Amino acid sequence: MKKLSLTSKIFIGLILGVIVGVMVNMMPESAFLSDYVVNGLFKFIGKVFISGLKMVVVPLVFVSLVCGTCSIGDPKKLTRVGSKTLIFYLLTTAVAISIALFVGNVIDPGVGLDLSSLAKKDVVIKESESLFNVLINIIPTNPIGALASGKMLQVIFFAIMTGISITFAGEKADPVRNFFIAMNEVVMNMINLVMKVAPVGVFGLVAETFSNFGFGMAQKILMYVISVLLALLIHGLITYMGSLKVLGGLSPVQFIKNFIPAMGVAFSTASSSGTLPVTIDTVEKRCGVNGEVASFTLPLGATINMDGTAIMQGVAVVFISQLYGIELGLNGFLTVILTATLATIGTAGVPSVGLITLSMVLASVNIPVEGIAFIMGIDRILDMSRTAINITGDAVCTLLVAKSEKEFDEEVYYAKNV
Ligand code: ASP
Repeated sequence: MKKLSLTSKIFIGLILGVIVGVMVNMMPESAFLSDYVVNGLFKFIGKVFISGLKMVVVPLVFVSLVCGTCSIGDPKKLTRVGSKTLIFYLLTTAVAISIALFVGNVIDPGVGLDLSSLAKKDVVIKESESLFNVLINIIPTNPIGALASGKMLQVIFFAIMTGISITFAGEKADPVRNFFIAMNEVVMNMINLVMKVAPVGVFGLVAETFSNFGFGMAQKILMYVISVLLALLIHGLITYMGSLKVLGGLSPVQFIKNFIPAMGVAFSTASSSGTLPVTIDTVEKRCGVNGEVASFTLPLGATINMDGTAIMQGVAVVFISQLYGIELGLNGFLTVILTATLATIGTAGVPSVGLITLSMVLASVNIPVEGIAFIMGIDRILDMSRTAINITGDAVCTLLVAKSEKEFDEEVYYAKNV
């Protein structure tokens, strides 16, 4: 029998996780099931996988961005690739929120909900950081501290500065440049090792989530969930697939075939940063993008480009404002588009952070931040879905930039993958 590919194994893990999780959720409650199976076995397997991914994230982002920045070499090219990437990331995020606001206003998920019966009074919402602080904190006063505590925006800033400085130092910096190139190989091999447990890890994560939540969601909240999912789908199919076809002349169907393994991992981990190793691997090996571009645009995207999160925030603003009977108006919508674009830049690529930065968006249009409590309970499943969209945006941008820079191999893109 032909050996199953890692992709197939991950998908088998995912499907089995859903089936087993839903079955466990339907069984009568028992201490054995919850202590030993859900919070024991499933949690253990999932945590081992997540910890393995987290272990490689900081070295990966740092090393790959240094390599990406200094291998682009030519400062002019770096500025060009950097600006194209930033423009694409910011524009698509603004489009994403606009779609979310539109879908939210068409479906009206919060109209007619009985607010009092849903209010969870005991939930404490953490304040999100002010925009001023997010921006000023990008420059690490202690780079080693930033690496040690995994402050991604600071790590990115320091990595890009290091890469640029290596470039300017020219030949004299060759040993440092070669060191980072070699380290990049080492980190990539470490990722391959971690990925060997991915199918089982994905099973554990998904089984745990579904054992806890099952399919029993309140019908009204379900309308909110449907609105978010619909907006994610529209953005994925129209904005992303449309730009691939129109701007890049590439087949969207082929893209999905190539990229789906990474989406599966993003879905089960709900973390763009955690999925980054897989995203880079998939974009290089299955989509045919040269590592030079991918190792610059993808770590950047995993940290600052989160269209799925922006969509959740857009729909959530409409939903919560409807719950409280607050009219947003055109100014309100424009404010939401601006603040949510910036809020997602400050959102770390780990589970649930989008909910915390949502408080910044709600506050900008004077909607009670406590409203987040209504959507907290069901956020995990949306987090999983939006993370898959988050990394898809990074990959599409990477492909388009790579193609425009002629750093793209069409043969690999259209090669038959399993
Ligand atoms: N989980 C998301 C991500 O990692 C961030 C969020 O929306 O909470 O991309």
